[in-house]
Amino acid sequence: MFQADPQLSRALARLQPKAKLDLQQDQLRLVLVESPGQPDMQFPDIWLRDNCRCGECYLPQTLSRLPQLWNNLDTSVRVQQQSVDVEQQLLYIQWSDGHASQYPFAWLRERDFALAHRTRYLSDFYRPAPQHWSGLEFGHIRREFQYQELLASDEQLQQWLHQLAVYGVALVRQAPLEFDVLRRLCNRVGFMRRTTYGDEFSVRAQPGASNYAYLAAPLPLHTDMPYFEYKPGVTLLHTLEQSDSPGGVNLLTDAYHVADLMRERHPAQFRVLCQTPVDWADIGRDGDLEFHNIWRAPVINLDAEGRYVRINHSIPQRDSHFSVPLEQVRPWYEAMALFVRLANEQACSFKTTPGDVLTFNNLRLVHGRTGYDDTDHNVRHLVGAFLDWDIVYSRLRVLRNATR
Ligand SMILES: [Zn+2]
Repeated sequence: MFQADPQLSRALARLQPKAKLDLQQDQLRLVLVESPGQPDMQFPDIWLRDNCRCGECYLPQTLSRLPQLWNNLDTSVRVQQQSVDVEQQLLYIQWSDGHASQYPFAWLRERDFALAHRTRYLSDFYRPAPQHWSGLEFGHIRREFQYQELLASDEQLQQWLHQLAVYGVALVRQAPLEFDVLRRLCNRVGFMRRTTYGDEFSVRAQPGASNYAYLAAPLPLHTDMPYFEYKPGVTLLHTLEQSDSPGGVNLLTDAYHVADLMRERHPAQFRVLCQTPVDWADIGRDGDLEFHNIWRAPVINLDAEGRYVRINHSIPQRDSHFSVPLEQVRPWYEAMALFVRLANEQACSFKTTPGDVLTFNNLRLVHGRTGYDDTDHNVRHLVGAFLDWDIVYSRLRVLRNATR
């Protein structure tokens, strides 16, 4: 068997050109060998031309491309000459359109087209890769954060948001029993998401009612507000008062894990839930605002690469309008019955205490609670609010940049 001689490999590496042009699949790419032993960096030529850093092509104060080149883009543009300055760590290119460009190695390194680099960028910096969990695994993935530490420490803030991004759930403890707790947490991230129910909202059984309200009925697993195209991304629930009755237990399921189970064991039903649009609705009034919200989308929503982007589920907020062909209806009910059964089987349960803030990914987890006795001496009072994922991911990247 052939064994590479390490000394010979090192000698060969030193002889390699620092930058060379390579024709692959009808496309010229520039291969830059930054230092011997390091993997090559790869760049398509036309992308390099598009991303020239000179004052004609790029505006540093806005970190953005200038549109000049695109007035009449020459897609046949080619590298005529290339060279590197190892001292200055710069790549120089002379283009067939007469333009000249230079690129710092450090800038190139962060934009390398090699598969390993792109994969790392997407899972480390773009969005931390989610890790799905079963009900039994909840004990291993759960993490707690202290409210005051989240307000005071950027490092703790970053860890909380990272936990939310990867596992979709985190518990914040030791928050004061005050109404502004969620606003202060949201302001640490960016700003609160407003909905038709306002900013913060109260969750409690209406007290003193002499009708059915002695027992606050169980709340089945659901996502909040599936009837919005722009659905709130992160739910925050602050427990102010908790019922002493045995009920009022929180239920949480990673619906991406449920979808994994269906994809693997029940592919036909999985496809039905991915492909059948469902009408979600909320019709009513809050204060002076009258609303009629509808959003039509499947229960399991995938992106172009087959990854989960969103789960929709809420029994009361599923419209009686179901605007699909007749023959799609029964298969949907059969698939949905399976989804609900699996979601219940995979639920983990715990009971928050006053001062806890439960935070979770509302695009991914379904949540609910068991029933509880609600009397004048046995009340349960939560305050809820939302954050958007755009704002959360943005804060995460800013925090990461600050520590790099
Ligand atoms: Zn330029």
